[in-house]
Amino acid sequence: MTKKGVKISLEKGLQNQIRDFFKKGLEKGVFDAVILPVRVPGKDSYAWILMNNAKLIDQANPVPPVMPVQGAKALKALTRKGNGIINVATIMRSCEIRAAIELSKLNQVNLEKITLVSYDCPGAVPMKGYNRIPEEMEKSFQNALAGKDFANDKMKEVCGICVDFANSPADLHFGFAGMENDGILFSNSDKGTAILDTLKMKCSEDDSQWKNSVNIIKEQKSKNRIEVYKSIQPEVEGLDNLQTTFAKCIGCHNCQSVCPICYCRQCYFDSSASKQTADYLQDKAKNRGGIGFPRDKIMFQVGRMAHMSLSCVSCGQCMDACPVDIPVAKIFSYVAAKTQDTFEYHAGTTADGAVPLKVYKQDELNKIHELIKNAEPQGSQHE
Ligand code: SF4
Ligand code: SF4
Repeated sequence: MTKKGVKISLEKGLQNQIRDFFKKGLEKGVFDAVILPVRVPGKDSYAWILMNNAKLIDQANPVPPVMPVQGAKALKALTRKGNGIINVATIMRSCEIRAAIELSKLNQVNLEKITLVSYDCPGAVPMKGYNRIPEEMEKSFQNALAGKDFANDKMKEVCGICVDFANSPADLHFGFAGMENDGILFSNSDKGTAILDTLKMKCSEDDSQWKNSVNIIKEQKSKNRIEVYKSIQPEVEGLDNLQTTFAKCIGCHNCQSVCPICYCRQCYFDSSASKQTADYLQDKAKNRGGIGFPRDKIMFQVGRMAHMSLSCVSCGQCMDACPVDIPVAKIFSYVAAKTQDTFEYHAGTTADGAVPLKVYKQDELNKIHELIKNAEPQGSQHE
């Protein structure tokens, strides 16, 4: 169905257009504050800053090249103890919005007074590369953004397989894929429509050109996704393969601490309950001929998969944070596709509906049986 949105000019660039939108929103009292990424003084990273001064918005970079802290984690920190009294707006990548939606379903984020805005995401540069050569990476990203290049090889590997780059349930969305000098600002919710009305922004532009371009890009990303999942399958199917893949894991748990979805306040694997006595370990080593340290490398990953793969948004933060370059995000994305497909659930793409398995449902139990059966190596046909 054709949708109408507000036509926006991109002649001055997307970043300026977004800044102007937020400044206007503050000025008209549509929001009381905004939370936006600002480049740190050392110019080698970005930080989320909550601000209520229109002049500070000029220093923000609403579409940053990197994602040092997943936006949903910033929203969790802001609303963990309730939503406060002011209205706050933010703009984030689709995977950040989707993680925030998942966290709100899990009662970890309160979105009542938050306006979410998203944009067609060209991807994010890996933090490791950006740290090394920030100016070069900055330039590559800004070129990709200006050139509306959604297949840039400088971006994280998971960005190349992200079929949701232009799809999020944010209240408002800046779309520009495949368009010349213009873009369209869409509303996806009553909150978004009310904001456009207050700002007297008229929805007259139809979305067919944008939608066609998004579909073409999505088709290519879907193909890439099948290939990446095929390549990762031998690394994760079966315990032996999983052990080989995680053999070099140093047990730092960075993958867990940067993950927006992994929200347990006390992880079992970091608790004293998971630690064993020297006697127990020595006996085990004697019986087996030897045991490795750090302990529980596979159990930790499998535990994480069991806990959060239904809500994984394939943002790539875990892989970016792994100091020994284990392809953690590709593995989690592959596993998440399997678990989410089983429950016909696509994490964070709709604001309504519960995360599967949160309340007892007989048919979900049957689906778990189906998942276990299909997980046996000989029956695995997933693409
Ligand atoms: S497991 Fe990795 S890819 Fe999935 S949500 Fe967490 S950080 Fe993102
Ligand atoms: S970040 Fe990498 S090395 Fe650290 S625990 Fe996770 S997989 Fe292991």
